[in-house]
Amino acid sequence: MKRVAIYPGSFDPITNGHLDVIERASRLFDEVIVAIAQNLDKHPLFTIPERRLQVEKATSHLKNIVVDDFPGLLVNYALEKKACALIRGLRAVSDFEFEFQMALMNRQMCPEVETLFLMPKDTYSYLSSRIIKEIARLGGDISAFVPEHVRREVMARHAVNS
Ligand code: ADP
Repeated sequence: MKRVAIYPGSFDPITNGHLDVIERASRLFDEVIVAIAQNLDKHPLFTIPERRLQVEKATSHLKNIVVDDFPGLLVNYALEKKACALIRGLRAVSDFEFEFQMALMNRQMCPEVETLFLMPKDTYSYLSSRIIKEIARLGGDISAFVPEHVRREVMARHAVNS
């Protein structure tokens, strides 16, 4: 049977850190679904369709990636997709407490789906979508942190908003 993993998140926008995790996961599973959570952030910079396109472009070099979005509980979505694993990225100790709680709660609700933590390349371990948006808003250069098409879209959004 096909081994499917889900990599959930807000991806607002996708960063090189997310991509690093996606590439690692794509080597471990037959299919990786990058799943954008519909209701995490009430004030996202990009809409769900915009984020889906950004992820699709950024992962077009990988054959086994599917991009989707989902409402409600992640474990229900995982069951629907017959996934055997949830992928999460671990950047630093600061991620640990929240991720630990989520993983154990998800296991409680759905014991058949395993949570797997992947560590990005060390140079990406300080990246987050939030900090990238902040740097761009303040006029900084984000070209080392996101794919080029994402950089252009982030800069365009800030040009419109300012
Ligand atoms: P954020 O808004 O913090 O960037 P998301 O909600 O989009 O994060 O994150 C989805 C998953 O990707 C989470 O497991 C998060 O820990 C992980 N992640 C985010 N940025 C990175 C990174 N630079 N390296 C590794 N994992 C990351």
